Amino acid sequence: MATIITRLKAWTRSTRPSDPEAARVMADRWESLPDHVRTPAQLIGRRFAGCEGTHGVFPACDFACKPCYHSADANKVPVDGAHTIAEVERQMAYLREHRGPAQYAQLIGGEVSLLSPQDHAATLEVMHRYGRMPMSMTHGDFDYDYLRRLAVRSDGKRRFAVLSFAAHIDSTMHGRTGASHPTSEAELQPQRAAFCAMFDRLEDELGVRAHLAHNMTVTADNVDQIPELIRASHGLGFRMFSFQPAAYVGNEQRWRNGYRVLTDDDVWARVEDGAGTRLPFRAIEVGDIRCNRTTWGVYVGERYVPLLDDRVATDLALRDAFFAALPGSLLFAPRAQQTVRVLRGVLRRPKVIPLTLAWTRRFVRRAGGLRALRHGIRPVTFVMHNFMDARDVAPAWALLKGGVTSDEPRIRATQERLQACTYHMAHPESDELVPACVQHSVLDPLENRDLVTLLATPGRRRRPPTT
Ligand code: SF4
Repeated sequence: MATIITRLKAWTRSTRPSDPEAARVMADRWESLPDHVRTPAQLIGRRFAGCEGTHGVFPACDFACKPCYHSADANKVPVDGAHTIAEVERQMAYLREHRGPAQYAQLIGGEVSLLSPQDHAATLEVMHRYGRMPMSMTHGDFDYDYLRRLAVRSDGKRRFAVLSFAAHIDSTMHGRTGASHPTSEAELQPQRAAFCAMFDRLEDELGVRAHLAHNMTVTADNVDQIPELIRASHGLGFRMFSFQPAAYVGNEQRWRNGYRVLTDDDVWARVEDGAGTRLPFRAIEVGDIRCNRTTWGVYVGERYVPLLDDRVATDLALRDAFFAALPGSLLFAPRAQQTVRVLRGVLRRPKVIPLTLAWTRRFVRRAGGLRALRHGIRPVTFVMHNFMDARDVAPAWALLKGGVTSDEPRIRATQERLQACTYHMAHPESDELVPACVQHSVLDPLENRDLVTLLATPGRRRRPPTT
């Protein structure tokens, strides 16, 4: 009897609408946000602490992209699996301690597939062990054999239930097999299709599911090709299309003139053209909208339907009710546990129920009626992530470290965005979480210089990179 009661208590605790540790992390995160992003639409500090990324692990890459966000020394750093695993462990331990039990983390460096499949897999396992949902950032130019060896152990048993990859595939990149110097996005369509097909095969053969994102660097040369890229690619299997307007960061030798001629609206308009509809990005905000625009939605056949419309008051009322009913993060809980947590949250705030029913009717209407739903729905998220230029980030960060707010409007705007950053790297040695813009603009060159020496030295001893 005592055992049953103990188990019941544990189950009741595990299905609370909000995990207490996650809720505390969210509350701290919310407190840390600058006022201008504490809007009713803000996701950070409510359901999500923000993305995490690795650094100083495997900076080298076998492509030559223009621009390239890695410092000029990156390719001098040898790829070293043991270093990567140990360094990722150190960073993940810090993130687990400071950012709570469940977050999305990107395994990012130079090119992840330069790691052996075994070292890559071991690194992903470290990230899982610290409650992270890892996403490997790649140029996508590897073969099925690599993917299979990543996914299975030497005894042939499946190593992961889900593999998550973000594939950067666009015409700013040079070195891809079969399209070494592409002159258009259309030329890369076979590579996009082949990349997704590898994961379809992996699921068919091994039951390993995939979560795939497509990344594209946007310049004046390829911006007009976005609509066709989306129309041609939305059915391939990507769950996210992320567009990064080119920034003056990283290797200066790879910079070109004219990166800043495009406004955020210019790029977003092309994404909307490709999606075939307006993409509301004020219903749910992720940090500062000068950094991020995000629209969650689904394809119903060929029609893209955003989940929330930021001009519809009842959609926003549903968002608010959900934020109130389910504080903290639900990430990565087993499905049954998640379902019970949601139900308990909804029962606490039953107002969610009529709002959800009314939203369902609106959604079906927007999707083209019940008959349209016969084709099934495919979730797809559109994102624009707008990195900042190194010439602004370096002084803005230096002043922030000294507790000084700049009088210069451009630098002050940069500081505001850094304070609201949604994409951090862990620096246990200095006890800091650092925005990715700062990592690439300020810290990478120093880290890579140190890594060249550290990893090239026979019989080296590990030591923390300099920051
Ligand atoms: S500060 Fe930089 S890294 Fe952080 S969200 Fe903004 S653009 Fe992204």
